[in-house]
Amino acid sequence: MKESIALTWRRIPHRYRLEGTKCEVCGNVYFPPRNVCPKCRSKGKIVPFTFSGKGKVYSLTEISVPPTGLERQVPYVFAIIELDEGARVAGQIVDASYEDVSIGDRVEVVFRKIQQDDPEGLIHYGFKFRLVK
Ligand SMILES: [Zn+2]
Repeated sequence: MKESIALTWRRIPHRYRLEGTKCEVCGNVYFPPRNVCPKCRSKGKIVPFTFSGKGKVYSLTEISVPPTGLERQVPYVFAIIELDEGARVAGQIVDASYEDVSIGDRVEVVFRKIQQDDPEGLIHYGFKFRLVK
């Protein structure tokens, strides 16, 4: 789906932070952000919440058949990360091969170019993770 340039720019600050939401009633944190706390429903009070971007590997897999646009990056490591604050997020682990990564390894978020195949020349950035040694 294409976005206008204006919309893309407006979103950039959010792309450089791992922004989710928190329910002030039960304390649960959510990424991606949710408008309604699934636990508290209408009683929940949702506020913006910025994650530290640090966590550990919960599970991982090696991707050798990539989605469109990522053909040049295979093989790569794709993992579920358990963030220190509690939410789980899926993301690529950069600068590491599958053999380098183990469940429980510490990781931190990095912001990297995802693809640049847009006819308008826009470069899309998103979050990925790297090992913390
Ligand atoms: Zn809640």
